Order: sequence, then structure tokens, then C-alpha cells
Amino acid sequence: MRPKLVIVYLLIVIAPLAAVGWLGAALARNEQTMVAVRFREVLTGKLNDTASNVAGLIEQRERELMTVSNLSALSPADLRERARASGIVRQYFVLDQEGDLVYPSPSGELMASEVEFLRRTESIWSNGEIPGPNAESQQASRAVQSETRTKGWHVGFWGSGVSLVFWWRDERGAVVGAELNEARLISDIVGILPETTTPEYTGRMSRSRQDDCTTLVDPKDAVVYKWGAYSPNAKETPRADVALFPPLQAWSLKYYSPAAPYGQGMIFSVILGFTAFGVALVVLALYFYRENTRAIRDALQRVSFVNQVSHELKTPLTNIRMYAEMLDGDLGEADTDTRRRLGVIVSESQRLSRLINNVLTFGRNQRKLLTLHRTPGIIDEALRSIISTFDAPLNARGVTVDLVTGAGQEANFDRDALEQIMGNLLSNAEKYAPNSGRLEITSHQNGDTVTITVSDQGPGIAGNLRERIFEPFYRVSNKLTDGVAGAGIGLTIARHLARLHGGNLTLEPSPRGARFKVTLRATMRRSGGTP
Ligand code: ADP
Repeated sequence: MRPKLVIVYLLIVIAPLAAVGWLGAALARNEQTMVAVRFREVLTGKLNDTASNVAGLIEQRERELMTVSNLSALSPADLRERARASGIVRQYFVLDQEGDLVYPSPSGELMASEVEFLRRTESIWSNGEIPGPNAESQQASRAVQSETRTKGWHVGFWGSGVSLVFWWRDERGAVVGAELNEARLISDIVGILPETTTPEYTGRMSRSRQDDCTTLVDPKDAVVYKWGAYSPNAKETPRADVALFPPLQAWSLKYYSPAAPYGQGMIFSVILGFTAFGVALVVLALYFYRENTRAIRDALQRVSFVNQVSHELKTPLTNIRMYAEMLDGDLGEADTDTRRRLGVIVSESQRLSRLINNVLTFGRNQRKLLTLHRTPGIIDEALRSIISTFDAPLNARGVTVDLVTGAGQEANFDRDALEQIMGNLLSNAEKYAPNSGRLEITSHQNGDTVTITVSDQGPGIAGNLRERIFEPFYRVSNKLTDGVAGAGIGLTIARHLARLHGGNLTLEPSPRGARFKVTLRATMRRSGGTP
């Protein structure tokens, strides 16, 4: 296969494949992003549901705490006993009107757990973070205001633990509160967490996955609880992350899964489509390649057929011409009619010979087999002899040759090639410049270079076609040339032969008619040397 053809076939296959591939990848990326966003939305929704359940538990805890009536009226012993029995409370406390602690009173007699409580909650009391009824109106509080009572949460951190404090105003108007039992609260939260948070997906998303997990993370980023089989590594970013509602806003739920379980279906269909398209293109390219090779083979067969036929025609034509010329020699002076008829046979057989020679030379040139056979001779003599064979047909078409010679020195050139070049130029003048009068032919020799010009007085050739007329099979179409026989290869061959001769054939500008210039490097014969 020719390299140009290979490039074309590669382009036919690779360019559309690249375009489709790029489009497919862009589409898949887009689809993947959309699915990922949807997936995250669903997961976040699920985590939010869990967070709402936890918020529900906290509200329930608030209600449970506030069911104890008149807490501020109870004695320290009662309060201790209540805390011990409740399970959900670690420590109760009661404030006076100014927000100072009445129980457990820092100045009173305290149990070890109460001392611990005061240490844990020290910042609350020193900063007045839970206001007493009097201070309440002046102080900005973090409390959640309700219509009838004031209540609120306070979250404090100590060491590695968390202190969750709820306070409210009891029926007597005193501010009371309780520190929750952290371990109990967490175990209650874990108790209401769902078995699994993984939503089930169908279609493009993967089906329910076992290898994922959700974690409940405390404010110090420690995992309090984890459910699901997957173990994320320490630096892994969760696929969804939701904070719990106040007062547990510092806690969060995080969902992890090893790989994005979405979009694979889309990527698979893009790859499948891409492969199918690629296969179709390759098949198409192969089909065109086969058709192309067949067309080239057919054309070569036709060319070789034409070559063979032309070869076969050459011998009988030469015989016809030879016998006609012999007959002409045998005729008496008075036999003018027969001589005229024989003249037609000779000139027609010459025309046919020229055509056959053109076809054979063209074929040889295509196969790069065209070579010259230079022999010593005089260009002007060859010119005269060639022109003499055209005298009769040119005269019959109303054209007379005016030859001005100037190449009389011996030179080395291919006589057949010169005959073919001149034959084509003269036959063109005969065909395309009939009744134009003078056909001027000049020859000139300057060292090794011989220049021959052939100028007719016919309609000429438009300047823009100066080069096109030398292209194979190109024929100018106009009123004058239409209907004139020709294959469009005469000038092509003439130029090839001139170039083989180290020269050229060109159409020269001229005021009237067509003026062709042939240049040849016809090496001079030098004594003792070969050209
Ligand atoms: P062909 O004569 O077989 O058509 P050529 O290669 O010899 O092919 O010529 C190419 C074209 O150039 C011709 O078809 C013709 O239109 C134009 N041409 C050639 N010689 C002349 C001329 N002397 N005058 C006008 N037109 C010409």
C-alpha cells in the first residue's frame, strides 16, 4: 500500500475514533458527576434521617428530665439519690436567683463525685454561662427560649470527656439542671442507629453494597461507633458527612465506601460503543482499501491491454504505410488520382502510428521505463524530414510551413523522440489551427542547447491554461476544439520527452495563435569523446 493511502486510511479510522472517544469520555464524565451528586444527595438524606432520630432522643431526654417537679425543693440527699437511681443523670444542680450554685455548693460538704462535677463544669460557674433568673434578662444566653419556661443545653469539654448539661426553670422559678450520663447517652444513641445506611440502587448505580460503613464521630474526631464492614483509613474522605442537631452539633455522621459505586455502567457502555464504532470504521476502511486495490488492479489491466493492442497494431500499420509508399513509387506521372488516394492512406496511417506511439510512450513513462537512444545527427535535417511528412495534410488544411533553420551542427539526440515531439506539435497545428495560413518553425543551436519554436496563426490558448494543457488527459473545450479527435496526452508526452532530453516544452506568450518552444540539450559530438 502506498504511504499516502496508509495515512488517509489511518485518518479515516483515527480521526472519527478520537472525536467519538473524546465525546464519549466527556459524556461519561458528565453522567458520572451527575450520578455522584445524586448519590451524595441520597446518602446525605439518609444520614440526616439518622441525625433527626438522634435529635428526637435528645428531646425525649429533655422531657424525661423535666418531669421531676420542684427539683429546687429537694434536699441534697434526695438529689443524690435521684441521680443515682435515674441512670440517665450523672449529677443534678440547683442555682440561686443570681445564678450561683446552691447545690452542690462549692462551700458545702461535698462527695467526691460532686467535687469532680464542679471541676468538670468550672467554666460554667466562673463565666456565669447558665444565668440565674435575675441575671437572665440582662445576659445573653445560649438558651432555647420557650414561651413559659427557659431551658437550655451547655456542652463542655474536659480532659478526654464531654460534659452535657441541661438546665431548666422549675415550677418554683428556680434554675435547676442535670449533667447527663455520657456513656448512657451514647449507648442510647447507638441503640437507635439503623442497621445499615447503604441505600439500594438499581440501574446505573451499583446494587446494595456490603463493603461500606457509617461512623458516629465525637467532637475530638474520635469514632464513637461504627457500623458496616468497611474500614476506612485514617485520611480517607467520607462520601457524605452530616453534623448532628444541637446540642450535639459537634458530633457528626460520616459515610465511607471504598470506590464510587456509580457510573461504571455508563463507562462500560461508552467503551462498548466506542469499540463497536472502531470495529465498524476498521471494517469500512478495509472495504475501501479492497475496493481501491481492485480499482487499481483493473486500471493496470486496462493499461496493459491497451499497450498490448497498440503493440499489435504497430506492425500491420507499418506494412500498410510501407506498401502504400512502394505503390506510390511504382505509379506513373499521369496517375494523379491514384497518387492522391495513396497519399491519404499514407498520411492516415502516419496519424495512426503517432497515436499508437503516444499511447506506448505514455505507458512506458507511467512505468518509469521511458529512456532515450541518442545518436549523432543534424537537428535541421531531422526537422526537414519530419516536416515533409506533414506537408500534404497541412496543405490540405490550408496551412503552409515556413521553416527557418539554425541548428545545422552535428549533435547527439534521440531522433524518434524529436519526431514524436514535433509530430504532436504539428498535428495539433493541423487540428486546432486550420486555414490559419503560415505555420512558422524556427530552429536555433547554441552550444549544446537547441531551441525549436512552432508558432501557428490559429485561435491560440488562453493564458490561464498555459500549464494545464500539459496535464495528462486535459483537453480544452471550446467551439473550435469540440469534435476534434484526441486523447489529451500529446503535449504531456512531448514535454516528458523534452525534459528527458535535458530541456523543456513550454507555451510561450504570443500576440496571435499558439507558440510552443522546445529546448533540448543535444550534446555536440566531440572528437574522441562519447556524449
Ligand atoms: P489532444 O490534441 O489529443 O487533445 P494534446 O495534449 O496534444 O491533446 O493537447 C491538449 C489540448 O491543448 C488540446 O485538446 C487543445 O485544446 C489544446 N491545444 C494544443 N495545441 C493547440 C494549438 N496549436 N492551438 C490551440 N489549442 C491547442
